[in-house]
Amino acid sequence: SAEPGRPYRVVLLGASGVGKTAFASIFAGAADSMDSDDCELCGDEVTEKEIEVDGEPASITLIDTWDSETSPACQYMQTGDAYLLLYSITDRASYLRASELRITLRRFRPAQNTPIILVGNKCDLVRRREVSVSEGRACAAVFDCKFIETSAAMQHNVWEAFHGIVRQLRLRRDSK
Ligand code: GDP
Repeated sequence: SAEPGRPYRVVLLGASGVGKTAFASIFAGAADSMDSDDCELCGDEVTEKEIEVDGEPASITLIDTWDSETSPACQYMQTGDAYLLLYSITDRASYLRASELRITLRRFRPAQNTPIILVGNKCDLVRRREVSVSEGRACAAVFDCKFIETSAAMQHNVWEAFHGIVRQLRLRRDSK
């Protein structure tokens, strides 16, 4: 049941303001946030941590990218082992951006079944919802990835998303 020698590189992708930093903080935990390290070139945050999923440890390097139209986190399109593709359910533009990023990912990594979870964050903001659950689900189906709605603010389903990505990485590892 040993994990591979190097940590899994899990990349947070998504438009500005969708909750990537909030996800990274929950992942890091208050006590471990000293381990975070700013990449000077790109301004991205990197946190390394071991978590337990289904009774087995998993080492994860979490990369919180900074998305912009001009530099769409391009180096991570090639080097990530798995992706959490975030949008905010209160921001339709961020949902469309997630689709664009998914297409970019596919272009960078044709024919690889890279684990990806589409994450509709901010599901606590019920009254400001612009993207329905079924739209999120449909988008994930089109893009052949898993789907989850989360609230980083309420710490709802955030760990489920991280655990889900580890499970997918293990399935992929075990099928090789
Ligand atoms: P990033 O630009 O993707 O890193 O987004 P941030 O993590 O900085 O979040 C942008 C804003 O949305 C911040 O004010 C967060 O506090 C807020 N935010 C993040 N996640 C949630 C959530 O699940 N619910 C609510 N209500 N606010 C959130």
